Amino acid sequence: MSIHLDDPVTALTGVGPKLAGRLADGLGVHTVRDLLEHYPRAFHDAGEVLDLSEVAAGEPATLIGEVLGWETRRVPPKGRRRRALDLTTGRVRQASGAVFTVTFFNQGWRSSQLAAGTVAAFSGEVSRFRGELQLKSPDVQVLGRVAAGMDAAEAAQRLAHQRLLAVYPAVDGLPSFKLNQLVETALEALPPVPEWLPERLRSDHRLVDLDTAVRSIHQPADPADADAARRRLVFDELFTLQLGLQRRRAQLEQATVGLDNAPYDEGWAAGFLDRLPFAPTAAQTAAFAGIAADLGGARPMHRLLQGDVGSGKTVVAVWAMLCAVDHGRQAALMAPTEVLAEQHYRTLTDLLAPLGVNVLDGIRVELLTSSTTRTQARRILGELLSGEVDVIVGTHALLEEGVRFADLGVVVIDEQHRFGVSQRVRLTDKSADTSTGATTTPDVLVMTATPIPRSLALTLYGDLDVTVLDELPPGREPITTRLITPAQRHRRDRLYEYIRTEAGAGRRAYVVCPFVEPSESVPGTAAVSEHRRLASQVFPDLEVALVHGRMTSSEKDAAMTAFRTGQAQVLVSTTVIEVGVDVPEASVMVIEDAERYGISQLHQLRGRVGRGDARSFCVLFGGWSAELSQEGQARLEAVARTTDGFELAEVDLSIRGEGQLFGRAQSGAADLRLAQLRRDEPVIVTTRELARAVVAADPQLVRDDHAALRDEVARRYGDAEAFAALRTG
Ligand code: ADP
Ligand code: MG
Repeated sequence: MSIHLDDPVTALTGVGPKLAGRLADGLGVHTVRDLLEHYPRAFHDAGEVLDLSEVAAGEPATLIGEVLGWETRRVPPKGRRRRALDLTTGRVRQASGAVFTVTFFNQGWRSSQLAAGTVAAFSGEVSRFRGELQLKSPDVQVLGRVAAGMDAAEAAQRLAHQRLLAVYPAVDGLPSFKLNQLVETALEALPPVPEWLPERLRSDHRLVDLDTAVRSIHQPADPADADAARRRLVFDELFTLQLGLQRRRAQLEQATVGLDNAPYDEGWAAGFLDRLPFAPTAAQTAAFAGIAADLGGARPMHRLLQGDVGSGKTVVAVWAMLCAVDHGRQAALMAPTEVLAEQHYRTLTDLLAPLGVNVLDGIRVELLTSSTTRTQARRILGELLSGEVDVIVGTHALLEEGVRFADLGVVVIDEQHRFGVSQRVRLTDKSADTSTGATTTPDVLVMTATPIPRSLALTLYGDLDVTVLDELPPGREPITTRLITPAQRHRRDRLYEYIRTEAGAGRRAYVVCPFVEPSESVPGTAAVSEHRRLASQVFPDLEVALVHGRMTSSEKDAAMTAFRTGQAQVLVSTTVIEVGVDVPEASVMVIEDAERYGISQLHQLRGRVGRGDARSFCVLFGGWSAELSQEGQARLEAVARTTDGFELAEVDLSIRGEGQLFGRAQSGAADLRLAQLRRDEPVIVTTRELARAVVAADPQLVRDDHAALRDEVARRYGDAEAFAALRTG
């Protein structure tokens, strides 16, 4: 019987509707391909298969034999053990005829799993019980059945050739050995898997052929064999992902013409740089150059501007937007939250003040969020369409129907990972001007203040060019970070004294809490009660403001203004202040229940201080309302150890894995079953280069020698549209 990878699992001998249902529900396995892509999580080294005469009690061993039968008896409670146990004992006969026993507690199902006649390998520590050798709760690997023609001698021989036994991620009712059996059945029935990689590419990168890889990832002869298989399959996953990304980009570019937004000497953009109160850093200068080339290029810009908090991304973004204005076009800046949009609006008007903002002959800048009044919004929309507004700052409100531009030249998207790809695409087809026939696409600059490891950037933003601001402006005082545990209680009082001193010197402190209101079910500091406590008991002499997500925008605004102007010296908040908020006088960041936050979130929060010229502190309270887990401790210690966002991102990736970093679908990791961004970074780099070269030579993969590549990418990702949707989650 021969089967196909896309056949349902029921095509396999022995798989009926019931088992198929369990595979689907438990593991999401529907087809033979799904089954074969359910990769082993480890290999169990069966070691040498021993005969009973060779083993001694107390030593680990793997014994193979044919199950003769089972017996279960109840062991009554005894001593400290208050419950009765079911002891299931099986007798197993080796090829030599010698018999040993295996025992399991409360696993009555073993007797049906390993019915008489089953040949299996049992691994564990050998003991002697009543004169017989015994394995207690051994690892079990089912190898076959005597009834099906295999006897123990044959099984032992086979295992000698294949010592590594795959161990699969299992679920209830589908233990690993069951999966071994199914995979075995599938591989036996499966004709050779056709190769899709061009021969030359395969030999250049020393990759084993696909059929070999598919088989040896499950049944390797030795560890090197398993490695080679893994290398090949990881390459496939990453190469198709990059091909999909590059092709999507090629398709976007093919259908559109870039606008000429090139900077020139006399414009607003040049004037803006001339009037900056500081010299750009070398990294900023390099960013200007890269973006200038994109802006003037024939293809629309798709660039990611990555930089740690405070690295000066805003200046770069503003400059890019002014280039559009210089060409008589408009620019849009989209932020993920209202607080951040308002912050950007203020920063922008401040930065542009020397050029004249919202004055006759100056630059017109407007803010559009969901709390803009209807009348205001109507006016702004009209002026966007007529071209009177040069720069619009806003939230996702900018994406709504009815927002139309006269001539949108540059789009800046801040904190892209909160938007996703499709929103990036949506804002770029907002230009009202279709008179020219060809579709023009604005230049897009995506800013992210979340440092992400290079491997992830290349995957998540594989379709973008990347600029990194890897340098902070000079003269910044480093932020000192301290972790305080409940054992160091006295340090809390000292901290409050320090905050009082700072306030006296005109500086300010943030106190961040994980919850808005106290809750009975989850212990933790609530902003509302912490605000009350600090205001009345700790700092009755200071002004303590409060901001959280359940307040109205005008309440939030009032609190932020009080803090910004210094009317309030302490601001208690939830993470609404996580990104972008810029109060240079803030010199202390206190984070309560710090273990509740992820590394990047803590890093973002810490980035709210150290923005002025004062020496700044970040204080992490850990383990105060819940015990500090080992992982939590590791996270807090990492944050205390370094302020380098990229280093922290690497730590984060190693602690949590990519799946949790951005959500699986969003990271593009949804389809990476075997590849791991961190470990496989070199392969990501290689496959990205390869994919770029392939797509540059043949954007739609129509060449004959690319037919198999195209089919494989289409099989995995469908057409470009489906691919975009997939990555947005
Ligand atoms: P980011 O957006 O990357 O967090 P910002 O653009 O908000 O950083 O810059 C942080 C602060 O540093 C701002 O107050 C900004 O005016 C200032 N800044 C930016 N570039 C420079 C520079 N080259 N030299 C000195 N200060 C700078
Ligand atoms: Mg900024």
